[in-house]
Amino acid sequence: MSLWLIAPEKSLAMPSLRRIVKKILVLGGTTEAREIAAQLVAAGHVVTSSLAGVTRNPLLPVGKVRIGGFGGSDGLRAYLQHETIELVVDATHPFAAQMSHNASLAVQNSHVQLLRFERPAWHPMPDEHWTMVNSLADAARDVPTGAKLFVTSGRKGLACFFDRADLSGVMRMVEPPTERVPPGWRILLDRPPHRFAEELALFQAEGFSHVISKNAGGVATRAKLDVARKLGLAVVMVQRPCKPPCESFSDVKALILRLGTSGDNG
Ligand code: NAP
Repeated sequence: MSLWLIAPEKSLAMPSLRRIVKKILVLGGTTEAREIAAQLVAAGHVVTSSLAGVTRNPLLPVGKVRIGGFGGSDGLRAYLQHETIELVVDATHPFAAQMSHNASLAVQNSHVQLLRFERPAWHPMPDEHWTMVNSLADAARDVPTGAKLFVTSGRKGLACFFDRADLSGVMRMVEPPTERVPPGWRILLDRPPHRFAEELALFQAEGFSHVISKNAGGVATRAKLDVARKLGLAVVMVQRPCKPPCESFSDVKALILRLGTSGDNG
């Protein structure tokens, strides 16, 4: 049964408009997910944001928050039914492919609508030296002997770099890695946003030869690429994994507008 609630529109300019209030689950863990949750709450929707629970002190969105996995797509489907969720907004990171697959499966053959927010990917400028690869393992294979790397791909899948004794460098992430870190590597625990001036100072102090990055997109972690461009350094860019097709937005405002007011049931 659908749970449409009709809330009076607060705008004095258009007193006759009535807004449809939805029960929404935002799959989060990104800056934009927090932005989306804030705008949906401000629009009067009943919003729960979900975080994976991998970060110890996560930045919390406004609205209700739940933390931890659902137990695969079946677990998520059961949660959606139990909480009578009408709309899922998948605003997970472009590399959080498992969660997006689970969301896609969980809403199949149900009345739950699924929308995705995905920030636009980065593209190289003509004077940038990027090698595109499909995985971190390919990135580790691609770099030349003795390279000094700046690795910004998160805490998972780093063993392929550690396995090459000739490589060294700095790895930046929010939470420490689970692997033992061999000599020659330094772990830098830090959270975005990272600004150009600080990135430039880090690059100059460390003397990196290559940057290893996932194609996360967005502005918060873009500065390292701008510095690499300025210094003429090579970038090895891991391409995004495929996510299942669904109605997607690359702009928060467009997604919010899609939900609309006055009778647009999405
Ligand atoms: P993933 O590989 O796609 O998902 C692994 C499992 O973690 C999922 O099957 C699910 O467990 C749980 N999970 C993931 N996102 C969740 C969420 N928002 N709420 C509840 N459970 C969630 O995900 P990941 O790459 O490890 O990323 C984990 C979280 O960190 C995501 O929320 C993502 O937005 C954020 N993040 C990821 C990256 C990245 O580079 N991957 C970067 C920045 C932020 P169950 O199967 O038990 O439900």
